[in-house]
Amino acid sequence: MSEASKTVDVVVVGAGFAGLSAATELQRAGVDFVVLEAQDRAGGRVEAANSLGGFFDTGGQFLCDDMPEVMALARKHGKTLVETPARGRAVVLPHESGDIGRGSAGSFALRQQMRHTDPDDPALESMSVRSWVEQQPADPLAREMFLCMIEGLWCQPADRMPIWYLISNDRRITSQVSELQYFLHETMFSLADDMARSLPVVLNAAVKGIETTPAAVLVRTATTIHAARQVILAVPPVMAARIAFNPPLAAETGRALAAWQSGLVIKVMLRYADAFWQQSGSDGSAMWLDPRGIYVCNASHDDGHPALVMFVAGSTAMEWHRLGPEGIRQAVLAKLAAALGPAAAQPLDVLVRDWTDDPWSGGGYSDVITDMSATDAEEVLRRGAPRIVFAPSEISPSFPGYVEGAIVAGRIGANRAIAALESYSR
Ligand SMILES: Cc1cc2nc3c(=O)[nH]c(=O)nc-3n(C[C@H](O)[C@H](O)[C@H](O)COP(=O)(O)OP(=O)(O)OC[C@H]3O[C@@H](n4cnc5c(N)ncnc54)[C@H](O)[C@@H]3O)c2cc1C
Repeated sequence: MSEASKTVDVVVVGAGFAGLSAATELQRAGVDFVVLEAQDRAGGRVEAANSLGGFFDTGGQFLCDDMPEVMALARKHGKTLVETPARGRAVVLPHESGDIGRGSAGSFALRQQMRHTDPDDPALESMSVRSWVEQQPADPLAREMFLCMIEGLWCQPADRMPIWYLISNDRRITSQVSELQYFLHETMFSLADDMARSLPVVLNAAVKGIETTPAAVLVRTATTIHAARQVILAVPPVMAARIAFNPPLAAETGRALAAWQSGLVIKVMLRYADAFWQQSGSDGSAMWLDPRGIYVCNASHDDGHPALVMFVAGSTAMEWHRLGPEGIRQAVLAKLAAALGPAAAQPLDVLVRDWTDDPWSGGGYSDVITDMSATDAEEVLRRGAPRIVFAPSEISPSFPGYVEGAIVAGRIGANRAIAALESYSR
C-alpha cells in the first residue's frame, strides 16, 4: 500500500491524558496539529468497562483535592465526584502479622525519612530501595509494610528500583490527603473521551518510525507520513523506545529511554449484592504483606451494587498473570474471602484487567527507572532531541505516573513545542 502524505506544524503521538493535554494547549494557541493514537480509543492507561449496566474505570480512576489540574478538568467537563467510602476498619493480612498500628507508623516514618534524604548523595549511587531500607534502624514489620507500600505503588519489587529515583519521584507526589479521595461517577475514561471529541485525534494510527531532516520531522504510521516541524511524544518511555528513529537518537537519549521498565499491575473490579463487609465493621479495604503488592478498597457508588477494587502489583502481578483470567479470578476470590469473609467469594460480577502485557502501555501505573546508574535519564528526556519533545506523565514535575502528572507533562511539552516553532520562524 502506498503511504499518503500530510503536513502539520506539530504531531502529538499518543492520546492518553498527556497527549490530550498537549493537544488542548496547542489548540488554544492556534497551532495546526494532529494527534496519532495507536489504539481504537483515547485515554491510554485510563479506560473503562461495563459491569452490570454501569461503567467502571479499569485503569486510572482516583483523584484528590491536592491534584489541581485533574480536579479542574473534571469540573470543567461537569463530572460528578464520588467520595471513596472509607468508614471502618482496614484489614492487614496475614492476621498474625503483629502490631499493625506500630508497623504502619514505622513505615510512614521510613517514607518521611526517604523523602528527606538527598537523592544526589554519592553514597546512594547504585543503591536499590531494598538495600537502603535494610540499612535503616526500623523494626522488621515497619520495613515489611514499607516494602509492600513501595511495590504496591510503583509496581516493581524494591530491589529493582534505585533509591535516588524513588526519592526524587516520591517528593513530587505532594498530596496531603488520600490519593484515593474521589473517583468520577461517569468514570475518568469519560473525561478523556470528552477531551478527545473536540480534538483532531486519529485512532488506529500507531507511529512506527520518526525521521528527522534539517527542515522537518516525518512521522510514519502504516498508512501515512505526517511531515511536521515538531513532534511531541506523549507515550511512556518504554513505548517511545520501540519507535524506529532515523537518524538514531543521540547515545545519551537512547540510554535515557532504555533506563525504564514498565510497572506491572492487574486491576480487578468486583460487584456485590450488598456491602457485606460493613457487618464486621470493615470499610472493605485490606492490604497483604504476603504476598506483596495486593490492596483492595471500596469503590462503591450509589447505583445499587457495591463495588470493591483490587490492585495486584509487582512480582505478584507477574505471578498471577501466568494464571490467566479465570485463575486470577479464583486467586482474587480466595484472598478476599480470607480478608473479608466467605461472602466476598460470591460477587455478582468480576472484571479482570491484566495490564502486565498491555501492548501500548507496557504494564503498570507507570514506567519506573530500573537502571541503577541512569541518574540523568529524566533530565535527558526533558531536554528532548532535535524536533522531538518527550511528554509522558513519567517525567512530570508534579505527580509523575498519575493522571495529574500526565496533564502537567503534556502542557509543558506543548509549550516547548510552541517555543520551538517560534524559534524556527525567527
Ligand atoms: C490499572 C491502573 C490504575 C491506575 N490508577 C490511577 C489512579 O487511580 N489515579 C491516577 O492519577 N493515575 C492512575 N494510574 C496512572 C495513570 O493512568 C497514568 O499515569 C496516566 O494515565 C498516563 O498518561 P499518559 O498520557 O502519560 O500515558 P498513557 O495513558 O499511557 O498514554 C499514552 C498513549 O500513547 C499511545 N501510544 C503508545 N505508543 C504509541 C505509538 N507508537 N503510536 C501511537 N500511539 C502510541 C497509547 O495507546 C496511549 O493511548 C493508573 C494506571 C493503571 C494502568
